[in-house]
Amino acid sequence: MVLMSPKEKMTAALKAADEETAREGGRLLAAGKLVAFPTETVYGLGADATNDKAVASIFEAKGRPQFNPLIAHVPELSWVGGFAEMTDTALRLAKRFWPGPMTLVMNRTKACPVSYLVSAGLDSVAVRMPSHPFARALIAEAGVPVAAPSANISGTVSPTTAEHVRQGLENRVSLIIDGGPCRVGVESTVLDVRGDRPVLLRAGGLTVEEIEDETGKGSVLFPESDPALPRSPGQLSSHYAPSLPVRLNALFAEEGEALLGFGKAEGAVLNLSPSGDTAEAAANLFAYMRELDRPEFRRIAVMPIPTDGLGLAINDRLKRAAYPRRVTKQS
Ligand code: AMP
Ligand code: MG
Repeated sequence: MVLMSPKEKMTAALKAADEETAREGGRLLAAGKLVAFPTETVYGLGADATNDKAVASIFEAKGRPQFNPLIAHVPELSWVGGFAEMTDTALRLAKRFWPGPMTLVMNRTKACPVSYLVSAGLDSVAVRMPSHPFARALIAEAGVPVAAPSANISGTVSPTTAEHVRQGLENRVSLIIDGGPCRVGVESTVLDVRGDRPVLLRAGGLTVEEIEDETGKGSVLFPESDPALPRSPGQLSSHYAPSLPVRLNALFAEEGEALLGFGKAEGAVLNLSPSGDTAEAAANLFAYMRELDRPEFRRIAVMPIPTDGLGLAINDRLKRAAYPRRVTKQS
């Protein structure tokens, strides 16, 4: 990994998401700099996806394992043909769900200008059109697809406010843009759409029910159920992790635990959704995990979350937050 030269050590400016900031951010991105920006899912750490050096600096800033491919973000559908091969399935889903929390994995075109670092050396590229209007304005100003993983140090809880971004990356990016809290709050749903049927590589902000409303009931394929299906590289077992250990499906708090509730929850320190709404719970998930990650607690205990709607994505994140890590804080 390349070390940062001293002059690149900085304190990022924090600016509101307005037209002038979109222009400034666009200029910085086009010049190969890192810009953290709001999307409807989580805050993104953006760089020019066609600039190898700029993309490399994302991995450096996040301390992210290099084999993880990144998502290239675009402001409109017309940009995609230039670098990805859209199958009928891809086009159909894009027309229905973009802009929105859905990422499509497609084959790279022959002349694809997107850095191979974004593809982690694969022949495929993941693309998304965010629904956050500022994110699209920023990318349009940059004039290039923008590679953007979540704007946090690798392995930590994803950021859903500009303040979360500042806490992790302030000295590692040129600009942090504040667009308020993220509406969806979990990452995008990643679908491999190179074949006729979409393969779910990562559960996320667009539900399987919604996808199947377009492609037909039972049409979504799950890699866990068939070893022949494509998988997403770099889906680490331990991820999205707070520094405290996490216990799942807790019905009540044990001594020293902070209970994260869902639905009717007695004794919960925080409640993801008192009314039992998975969309509300998704929007609160990462912010509440951060809030409970305090030394006064020994462990975070999370109540059971149903797996319908956004519950699938929430359970996926929780499972990885709870995965045993080598370094856990026990007292
Ligand atoms: P993040 O940047 O943290 O939102 O994560 C991006 C997700 O998209 C990861 O789960 C990647 O493994 C997945 N992804 C990105 N590009 C590809 C690709 N070309 N093939 C398969 N999965 C991908
Ligand atoms: Mg992430």
